[in-house]
Amino acid sequence: MTPPALLAAARRRRATRLDDLREWLAIPSVSAEPARAADVARAARWLASWQRARGARVQVRPTEKGRDIVLGLWPAPPGAPLIVLYGHYDVQPAGPGWSTAPFAPVIRNGVLYARGAGDDKGQLFAHLCALEAWQQFGVIPVQVLVIAEGAEEVGSPGFDAALRPLARRFRPRAVVISDTERDAGGAPTITVSQRGHLVARLEVDVGGSDVHPGRLGGAVVDPGLVLAEALLLLRDELIPALGSGPVDTAGEQPRLRTDAVVARIANGRATTGAGLDERITRYGALSVTRLAAGGRGGAVPARSAAWIDIRLPARVDPADVVLRARRLLDGLAPPGTMVSLRAGSGTAGLEAMPDAAIQRAAKEACMIGFGRPPVYVRSGGTVPAAGMMARAFGLHPLLLGFGTPGGHAHGPDEAMDLPGWSAAIDTSVALIGALGGPVRTNFGRAQSGLRARIQPVPTGASLARTDGEDR
Ligand SMILES: [Zn+2]
Repeated sequence: MTPPALLAAARRRRATRLDDLREWLAIPSVSAEPARAADVARAARWLASWQRARGARVQVRPTEKGRDIVLGLWPAPPGAPLIVLYGHYDVQPAGPGWSTAPFAPVIRNGVLYARGAGDDKGQLFAHLCALEAWQQFGVIPVQVLVIAEGAEEVGSPGFDAALRPLARRFRPRAVVISDTERDAGGAPTITVSQRGHLVARLEVDVGGSDVHPGRLGGAVVDPGLVLAEALLLLRDELIPALGSGPVDTAGEQPRLRTDAVVARIANGRATTGAGLDERITRYGALSVTRLAAGGRGGAVPARSAAWIDIRLPARVDPADVVLRARRLLDGLAPPGTMVSLRAGSGTAGLEAMPDAAIQRAAKEACMIGFGRPPVYVRSGGTVPAAGMMARAFGLHPLLLGFGTPGGHAHGPDEAMDLPGWSAAIDTSVALIGALGGPVRTNFGRAQSGLRARIQPVPTGASLARTDGEDR
């Protein structure tokens, strides 16, 4: 339960906190651009000092290339359950097409425009505002470890390794990640599965050099056609054999978007038939992101290549898919021809239906913040960090999405609507209350939350200064 007076007090400070957020958004913490390294570090320092000024114990843990992980441990009474809250403070490059300066946040018609407004500074900061509200107006009923990453937009290198020592020391009751969007109707979402991801390059080499099609066409093997055959083989044999992601049996059933809704999102692109949302979220898919064959006009080339992106059902192992693909391709190449598959990065999918108590807490919180329950969805995408957290802490994270629907994460004019942001703070305030045990607040009466099935925090669950510099 959340004391109404606490919500009211938090709302009175909203304008000031919005100013804070704008200040943070003005720091161009683009992890993919080496020239922005100092800004990434500056955004980390900003986050560290904001939390430290409000009583959190903060530690900045270096990873490669200076994209530090900022840890903030917010105090709670002894025996309070521990919650891990994940977000990232790095952002995508600005890119072209903005109608305003991407790192000069502006508000137009109740919408905040800036790179990172939704993905993910705005969402992470909503949780931080909620923590501040509890901290200043009573006692936070849960111990919260905020893990803020600075390399999410470049695939989270080094994050897995950084999580390992944390997972040994902390045993959270829940992991909360807000880095997704609300649904088209504006309801907050709970994402219950993600697909896996594999990138690879398919190469065909028939030997020799380019030839004239009039002189040798029909006599030589054409690498473009072999490549086309190889791609169709993967589409028709490999992808169907991967099966589909599981249909969830426990908890709320995820909502499927209709074909019309998906077609609208596809914005003029031809689509592949019926049952589109299931195709996107439960089944594998092969996409060709780039093709290369020939170059000089009229000649038959000797080599061809395709860059492919394979999305995998949640339970499929990417390494196994590479082996299966190579086995299929082995039988394809005509004599004297080499067909090879070079695998790049692979990420396993994730099933993330939180346990019943966490679902109840999330529903209670969304009712308070947004006046409606969350909508359950599956995602066709892949956030590597979510899988890393699930494996490290051994539980299904709560992927609670607050971002503005169609808020242009990664595109121009990234946006966060202020009513949504405000509701996200209220929701987080209520979620912290719902996940906590009985709490004493400055508003009198003890409040009770989810007392049952709460693991005590292991003793020594603190950020020891010995294994990292406290900046
Ligand atoms: Zn993000």
